[in-house]
Amino acid sequence: MEKKKRNRTIKVGESHLTQLLFSILFIAIFLLIMYVYFIINLRQDTNILYNSENYRFDATTLSEDNDLFIKDNWTFFPNLRTNDIRSYMSSIDYRKRPHAKNVTISENGWDNLGPNAEWENLVDGEVPEFRPFMNEGMRMVSGAYMATIKVSRATNTLYLDLGKLNGHAFIFCNGYPVGNTGDDTSFNIVPEYIGGYSSTAVQNRNDTIELIIIIYANEQTLHAGLNTTPALFHEKSNAILTTLPSAFLAAIAIMTVIAVIGGFLLRKTLSDPRSYTYFALSITSLFLYYVVNGNFLVLASPYRALMEFLFMTTSAIFGYCMITFLFTSYRTENGSKYGSLDCIIVSCAGIMILALAFLDSRLLSTSFKSTTLLIFVITITIMSVSKILLFYMDAPNSTIGLCTAISLFFTYFDMMFCNNLRSNCPLYAIFYLVALVSIMIYFVQRYLVQYSELKHSSEHLRLVVEEKTAHISMINRDLYNTNKKLLENEEARKNVMSNVSHDLRTPITAIRGYSELLLQSGSNLNEEQRSVYLQNIMKRSQQMERIVSDIVEISKMESSGFEFEFMDISMTELLDELYMLYSSDLRNGKKKLLLDLPDEDLLITKADPKRISRVFENLISNAINYTKEEAVIEIKAWRDNADKPFEEQKIHIEIKDNGIGIPPAELPHIFDRFYRAKNSGQNIKGTGLGLSIVKMIIDRHDAEINVESVLGEGTSFHVLMKPTY
Ligand code: ADP
Repeated sequence: MEKKKRNRTIKVGESHLTQLLFSILFIAIFLLIMYVYFIINLRQDTNILYNSENYRFDATTLSEDNDLFIKDNWTFFPNLRTNDIRSYMSSIDYRKRPHAKNVTISENGWDNLGPNAEWENLVDGEVPEFRPFMNEGMRMVSGAYMATIKVSRATNTLYLDLGKLNGHAFIFCNGYPVGNTGDDTSFNIVPEYIGGYSSTAVQNRNDTIELIIIIYANEQTLHAGLNTTPALFHEKSNAILTTLPSAFLAAIAIMTVIAVIGGFLLRKTLSDPRSYTYFALSITSLFLYYVVNGNFLVLASPYRALMEFLFMTTSAIFGYCMITFLFTSYRTENGSKYGSLDCIIVSCAGIMILALAFLDSRLLSTSFKSTTLLIFVITITIMSVSKILLFYMDAPNSTIGLCTAISLFFTYFDMMFCNNLRSNCPLYAIFYLVALVSIMIYFVQRYLVQYSELKHSSEHLRLVVEEKTAHISMINRDLYNTNKKLLENEEARKNVMSNVSHDLRTPITAIRGYSELLLQSGSNLNEEQRSVYLQNIMKRSQQMERIVSDIVEISKMESSGFEFEFMDISMTELLDELYMLYSSDLRNGKKKLLLDLPDEDLLITKADPKRISRVFENLISNAINYTKEEAVIEIKAWRDNADKPFEEQKIHIEIKDNGIGIPPAELPHIFDRFYRAKNSGQNIKGTGLGLSIVKMIIDRHDAEINVESVLGEGTSFHVLMKPTY
């Protein structure tokens, strides 16, 4: 149940109505082609008159644009041979021999002389039997077709085209041999004109062309005699008659080769490559049928009939298999429905019919051949069409399948019934060419679409890959930086450890020294000395305490759980308080502290009050530490870009001194841990941790700190913060 549902959503078949309409349109186009073809080719002998009194046609109106097709009113003489002809024509009145008048040319040759045939001069009223004679060791039979045609005196030469015939034809014009054509297998004669559409020139004598076509045939030749209506035409049409079928053969041959080779190269992309194999076999059979059909390859009639029968049957079988294998993928997805089993049945039936025809060539008589093939082809077409309509309407290739089945039917139908019409190219050859061209267009279009889709998706893929590569290289860079940072941190950690231990050891050593002195000296020390030692111990322990508390502060801020408590605070007030504090400390010294704050701007910013005051405490105490006796330290604050939009405004705090300054080379390092500039000297106490704590706090406030310094002249630190309003 669920599987069925899923299939329904995946398969997007065309609507049945569209498919049926498409197939109907396809049939209509076929019928239209047939109709147009008949109109073009049905150039009958309408402009000639026949006078049965003198056996003569009147074709004086025959013009250069008109071909003369003589289908009816031939006179037929059985058992007439080439060496008889002159004597008959010159002395004996051939009209006294037994002959048939009003003979119609049919595809059954002289087996069927037509409904209007009338025998004359019969001996005892008996229709004469064909009397075999020996020719180069073979038993032959012969018969002659005769027509006398009156043409205009201006006409010198006409060309005769016999079309399809069974046997070998010797052509006489006004009593003289003018050419021969047809099967060369019966004779050791190399025919002067090979092929049905090669033509023979016939000369006009006064205003009459007396045409006799004598056919020699093997005794077992089927339907010996003329099989298509002979045509007389002017030179101009001759070129068309000979070049058109050859051009058609060339076109079909090229198309077939392209389809077979191209299809072979592309077959792997089909859902079932077997459908290609059957397609190639089917069209190759059609092509061979076209070649042996009497237009190009002159075969003795029994072989020709057999070949035609063989190729049509194989083409039909392979065509059926091709249609079936178009639906393999659909069949496997939806469970087997009329799969390969019916292909096997159809093939067996075809092979049986073929085997019968091979065993007994009498079965190849036109009526048997046509009836058998007709039944076979109709059955196959009904099977294919109903199979598609009943089971594969939802499948992706159903329209192609329907159209292929229909076109194959039309092609076979035309092969069987329409080839006795006098025409330059058989209709089925046109169908065949149309089908080949449309299949090629279909494939080319399909592959163009696939190609453009592929190109599009590869372009998309390229972009995605590019994007991903960029992303990966970014990650790589980050990784590299992180790694570098980690290594640096590791290095820094080592430095910190050695610095901490060094910085701690110095006061500890001093404390130990003073304590030992106190213990050892005992009561030998006077009060004053004792107090100096104790004060030193006190100072050193304070220094230790400072270092330890700085380290604790740093590690606290570095730990992930440490949160700042941000709130709106006034920098004006904060700096004012610090100023009060430090100026009372400096009361007794010569160092001076100056304060410059805006009168009406509280300079409110978001900050952690404890930490931010630590920043300015550090900066101010550094300024006090790193200056000489008479120093002026300025604390300033103002609003940068006060006249510009709020986003561009900044709270600017400057702590400026006129002290020892920092050497330019050391400026970039002063925010590093334990870093102390060389000029800071031993006598100025410090840990080298103060500014690194300042930098950490400033960073957490999303603020900025810069330093400007001139060695020996002074230093100023600038802090830039975002105002709240
Ligand atoms: P400490 O002051 O404990 O040595 P700090 O991290 O606060 O450590 O300062 C680092 C170094 O920067 C100081 O040792 C000193 O060389 C230099 N420094 C800081 N402030 C000033 C200043 N106002 N004038 C000159 N040098 C300064």
